[in-house]
Amino acid sequence: MTSFRCVKCSSQQESDGLDVSCERCGSAVVVADVAPTAVTRSELEDQPSGVWRYRAFFPGLGPEEVVSLGEGGTPLLRAERLGAELGLRDLMIKDESRNPTGSFMDRGSTVLLSLARSRRVKECTCITTGNLGASLAAYCAKADIKARMMIHQSTDQGKLYQMLAYGAEVEPLSSRPLLRDSHGGSLTVTAANPYLLEGEKTTGFELIQELGWQTPDVIVVPVGTGGHLRMIWQSIAQFESASLIGDSHCRLLGVQVKPTPYGGTKSRIKRGSQVDLPLAELEESEPSFRREANRAVAESGGMMLATNSRDILAATSLLAKTEGIFAEPSSASVVAALSDAVRSGYLRSSEKVVCVITGAGLKDPKAISRLARRARQPAPGDPYARPSPGIGATKIALLRLLKIHTAYGYELRKLLAPDRRMSTASVYQHLTELEEFAMVRRRETVYARGRERIPYELTRRGAEFLRVAGKLERVERKQAG
Ligand SMILES: [Zn+2]
Repeated sequence: MTSFRCVKCSSQQESDGLDVSCERCGSAVVVADVAPTAVTRSELEDQPSGVWRYRAFFPGLGPEEVVSLGEGGTPLLRAERLGAELGLRDLMIKDESRNPTGSFMDRGSTVLLSLARSRRVKECTCITTGNLGASLAAYCAKADIKARMMIHQSTDQGKLYQMLAYGAEVEPLSSRPLLRDSHGGSLTVTAANPYLLEGEKTTGFELIQELGWQTPDVIVVPVGTGGHLRMIWQSIAQFESASLIGDSHCRLLGVQVKPTPYGGTKSRIKRGSQVDLPLAELEESEPSFRREANRAVAESGGMMLATNSRDILAATSLLAKTEGIFAEPSSASVVAALSDAVRSGYLRSSEKVVCVITGAGLKDPKAISRLARRARQPAPGDPYARPSPGIGATKIALLRLLKIHTAYGYELRKLLAPDRRMSTASVYQHLTELEEFAMVRRRETVYARGRERIPYELTRRGAEFLRVAGKLERVERKQAG
């Protein structure tokens, strides 16, 4: 049995379940803070790097078989060029995009899925905006557990491809809320799962250990649900109480997109003057750990910073160009916020600052294309400056045509754009990308009238993607109407 504490009403409860929420008020719970097994610095240093190095801090968890893809142990990089740009002499980046599925969520997935497998869970259902689903799908594959993902409309395309690639069953989340129905062999997971959070606190343990058992002056973290930030704060407290570090004076800066639920408003980020970026990972309309995150920031003497999507896009580009780290925009928000914090004088240039970059940029093709357009500095009236027509409309149209029959690129161009508003080369580019996602494949080259022709056909994965895309569209139409 493990002890849990409700983040809202603070009531304590014991449970051996994996999907625990407060018995009294239904809110999220966290594993109650208990003293870890006595452990020394050298014992921790002797363990291989990664999440499981900190097993002593997962109370009551002792899975015999760890389900691991080599998560954690991510580099803490000195960011001299970015620091010079921002006016910070001692800036470092904890690069969580190096995790197996490209996000910090893998730290939680290894803990939860290890427990799930040891408890003989057969099926895992997850409600997700993206990164969590991609991560759980990979760990379910490794653990031989069936994965069912209920995705939000705002889910980024790259993350959807990841889920499908890892063999998850993907369904759009309908307006009807999914009942939490964990039982016997079935487990329902949300980002508020307390065991996911236990794994997430290792981001903090690692960066402290890498800094020679010291906390930096400031840690900057995207807020999201508030869980990761809260757990990084707890990691400092747990290292202090285990006497692994002395008293810390580390401030936490939480970063959110404005307007924001943390400030009390619930509006979305769409505003005329702003770039409409898909920031699903930051845009939590009801962050489960809002109070806890606010409390952590206040206790540390830090602050919550808000930034906008235009600055985030610029920050994504700056981070990539100065440090070679291509982060997803919701992660690069920390860089945008830092720049504000320095300008306002909140941060001194000599302070040791660690930015946590939580996820990889390749997951978010919409943002990539917007960055590319930004690089081209589009003039007004430039057709590329128009908003993209939804999630991969051209690719979906190509897949639909291929569902009917096998076709060549030229043929597809004629069917798709009889008015020639799209070139055959661009159709081939889309086909190549679809091929990389294993949604289409080439058949044997045909020679007709002296010309080489490559027929393309739909794969099973392509057909599965179309099925999900169709369902998503129906849900969107229903919700719009
Ligand atoms: Zn409660």
